[in-house]
Amino acid sequence: MMKIFFSPKYSVDIGDHVFPTAKFAMAAEKLKGDGEMVEPQPPSRDELLLAHAPDWVDRVLDGKLTLNEETTMELPWSIMLAEAHALSVSGTILACREALSTGLGLHCGGGSHHAFPNHGEGFCVFNDIACGILKMIQERRVVRAMVVDLDVHQGNGTAAIFHGRPEVFTFSMHQGDIYPTPKTPGSLDVELRAGAGNREFLETLEKHLPKILDSHRPELVVYQAGADVYENDVLGGLKLTREGVRLRDEAVFKHCFERRIPVAVTLGGGYAERLEETAELHAQTIKTAMESYRHAGSHI
Ligand SMILES: [Zn+2]
Repeated sequence: MMKIFFSPKYSVDIGDHVFPTAKFAMAAEKLKGDGEMVEPQPPSRDELLLAHAPDWVDRVLDGKLTLNEETTMELPWSIMLAEAHALSVSGTILACREALSTGLGLHCGGGSHHAFPNHGEGFCVFNDIACGILKMIQERRVVRAMVVDLDVHQGNGTAAIFHGRPEVFTFSMHQGDIYPTPKTPGSLDVELRAGAGNREFLETLEKHLPKILDSHRPELVVYQAGADVYENDVLGGLKLTREGVRLRDEAVFKHCFERRIPVAVTLGGGYAERLEETAELHAQTIKTAMESYRHAGSHI
């Protein structure tokens, strides 16, 4: 059975909020028969420091954020919240390590792509994607890596962290006319118009992904599989159907596995009107990853 990294501690009571923290637990529940749930342990301070300033890390963990910082983060601080977001860094580090040993690493959580070195934004506190990649580089498991970020929002925090580090290619395909504004340029940013739909999304992905995989030749891809591209999402407007989301995920895995590139999956955003739909989409991403992996067989 494949490992799925997940912690029940990801569910934190943050009151009446558009970010449903329970969505990862609901997705994990749907995946119980498919994989072995493995709980991450809290990361070391050094692991958080891979992508973050000491001042930010310490003040998040000690509960010393300013009101302004909490407002920008769009999350109310609590010790449970700080611990949940730190744990999610471990979840992505473990998924990266698993990807490098088996070809596929699955994190039922993570994808906090709006977290910057010294501040949090848009429901993100610590950038698990960046910490995961930087940990693999530090451990000399990889030299070149890539972030494939297909959340409806641009991966501004990830782009900022890897700015000036050409060994890590940051690709973000997103809706152009929503948060974040302005965007922080990454290695390749592709904007789509509101209402793009399945076809335009998938064609644009086909146009760019194979090309950048071949030119950058990453030894690890971290995939941010945001479910907020979905047609019933309240924050996103790209209008992909459920099948469109599945085809998007399948395309990412196919192109990576064909090239024998290991993939670590993180789930990212997802704000469908019905929480159940978001959980379904997150679970579908993990199941699609497993199917594509099995299909690729010994090629990875
Ligand atoms: Zn998003």
